[in-house]
Amino acid sequence: MLLNDVLGLLKRTLNCHESLYLWEVFFDRSKWYHYHGAPMLTPPQRNILPQVIEPRRLVNQGVVLTGEIAPELCKRLTESVLEISEPIVANLIFDKEERGRKVVHVNASTTIQVACHRCLEPMSLPLTCDTVLGIVWSEDQAKSLPRDLEPWVVEEEMGDIAALVEEELLLVLPFVIYHPEDQCSAATGYSTNEDIDAGTPRENPFSILEQLKNSGSDN
Ligand SMILES: [Zn+2]
Repeated sequence: MLLNDVLGLLKRTLNCHESLYLWEVFFDRSKWYHYHGAPMLTPPQRNILPQVIEPRRLVNQGVVLTGEIAPELCKRLTESVLEISEPIVANLIFDKEERGRKVVHVNASTTIQVACHRCLEPMSLPLTCDTVLGIVWSEDQAKSLPRDLEPWVVEEEMGDIAALVEEELLLVLPFVIYHPEDQCSAATGYSTNEDIDAGTPRENPFSILEQLKNSGSDN
């Protein structure tokens, strides 16, 4: 997948810088420098993003956050699927549009296990969302956004990016999901199902014709 390649590349190139950003954003400078002055620690293999951030401040700093959203923060998504089987990798670019409008570009992906609606067997489904949202203080302010810009209503300083990413992934989750026909046990077993169904009484058009014919010959 091209998108995943780009994400992977972004993740690799940004990983180092963005850890620095995080330290800068979430720890005061003295602690940061103290930490930085210590011998370099092995960087964490997996970078879990914080749940809440200050979106407007990150816009002003032009910050890009790349990392994983902890799946336990995504209860609605967890409850909507059998399993979240791959890490939820998110790339959030905090930026200013023309006219100074604060926006966040959300690109996130994961893989989920869902039940096929035809055969009920689990199936793997990659999910990817890619949206630009205008950061607004209220629903009222959201109405002033151009139509192509979804609102992200953040009523306080802090905004919940786990909830934001979860919401965007829920929006791309298909309502009804099937295996491709050649991989679905119910689809290939279609004629067998018909045979089983034949056991249940069903009005046969030929038998109706037969009855009509018989009733006609009686007269
Ligand atoms: Zn199926």
